[in-house]
Amino acid sequence: MYDSIVIGAGIAGSTVARQLAEKKGHKVLVVEKRDHIGGNCYDRPDAYGILVHEYGPHIFHTNMEDVFAYLSGFTEWILYENGHQVVANVDGRLIPVPFNLNTLHMIYDKETADVLEKKLKDTYGEGSRVPIMKLREDPDEQIQAIAQYVYENVFLKYTMKQWGQTPEEISPEVTGRVPVLISYDNRYFQDKYQGVPKHGFLAMFHRMLDHENITVRTGTDAKELLEFREQEICFEGQPFKGNVIFTGALDELYDCKYGRLPYRSLEFAFEHLEQEDFQDGHSVVNYTVSEDFTRITEFKYLTRQEDANGTTIVREYPFAYTGAEGEIPYYAIMNPENEALYRKYEKLAQQHANLYLLGRLAEYKYYNIDAMTKKALELADSLPGC
Ligand SMILES: Cc1cc2nc3c(=O)[nH]c(=O)nc-3n(C[C@H](O)[C@H](O)[C@H](O)COP(=O)(O)OP(=O)(O)OC[C@H]3O[C@@H](n4cnc5c(N)ncnc54)[C@H](O)[C@@H]3O)c2cc1C
Repeated sequence: MYDSIVIGAGIAGSTVARQLAEKKGHKVLVVEKRDHIGGNCYDRPDAYGILVHEYGPHIFHTNMEDVFAYLSGFTEWILYENGHQVVANVDGRLIPVPFNLNTLHMIYDKETADVLEKKLKDTYGEGSRVPIMKLREDPDEQIQAIAQYVYENVFLKYTMKQWGQTPEEISPEVTGRVPVLISYDNRYFQDKYQGVPKHGFLAMFHRMLDHENITVRTGTDAKELLEFREQEICFEGQPFKGNVIFTGALDELYDCKYGRLPYRSLEFAFEHLEQEDFQDGHSVVNYTVSEDFTRITEFKYLTRQEDANGTTIVREYPFAYTGAEGEIPYYAIMNPENEALYRKYEKLAQQHANLYLLGRLAEYKYYNIDAMTKKALELADSLPGC
């Protein structure tokens, strides 16, 4: 009845399902355990009519022309003219992050800042992106002082809150995602396209999955329909020879038989305020030296909603995922030990020639929306048509 079964209706599952249905003529079943599609990109109007991102603020950003063109087939965009900009609240003062030359001039007097600016440009080159851990190793005392300021005021406490570990303990890949910029660029991302779908992410996902060859079943855990026996996958009790594309957590697929893969989770505390503005026009403010939460998002600035009455904000409180009912695994904690555990699960999955692992959970790694879309397009391309 189905040529492919896709587990999970996030960006990975929805992209691969659409491509297989449209380009390969597959009859596709999409199974999603939540009661909605869209995965973590899901958005909805709250009780006050303000569009909120249920699982944390999502901004689409990319340099990939093909991915931008592909998703533009399902949505128009609100593109940010000046990119997505983030500030950090450091003892009540708002400074641009990533730390850049504007930030430098805010914290030093002009004369000192000019000298430091020249030094940074001479050492690393104008426009370069320097990981904080690299900057800390610079032999120059003045550069080391800047590095120490950035480390203490932008990274240390924030990383401890987000990951429960110091910047030294986590993967350099993670700290490298927010480098020091040797430029006056206040944008959080340097990508060409940055913004949100004009009518919201959910509308985009509805259009992606709206195809005659696609059937979507929400509120259904794949394990209710599929059984992963040795060598064989069964669908509703019968051996299934089509493709199974799994975008959920791999350890949970195998009942965590080797132990749980560690993740960081988040609690989102939404609040509606009967005031026009809460953060002085800033969509995202990071709290890098104080508070238990990592950041506050004010949605109407993120989505550019002009008809909002009052304002809705969300605070994010990270914690260690335990697998308890209602918790969601958000960020894989990448280190050699966890990756070795992941490989054990991957080996189990390799028993099934028709099982494909795709997505931030199934692959146990961080992906942005654009990279995830690209990966899903590539997987669909690699599978044979009917
Ligand atoms: C707080 C936060 C903020 C982010 N912000 C950005 C951003 O600004 N820009 C950006 O590009 N990226 C952002 N990301 C990353 C982005 O969320 C991911 O790239 C994207 O969600 C990955 O899509 P996915 O389909 O792999 O996973 P998901 O979106 O998690 O989708 C997987 C789906 O599979 C379902 N599922 C799992 N197991 C089963 C099962 N057994 N049966 C049925 N269904 C199942 C889940 O319910 C889920 O809906 C952010 C991530 C987080 C956590």
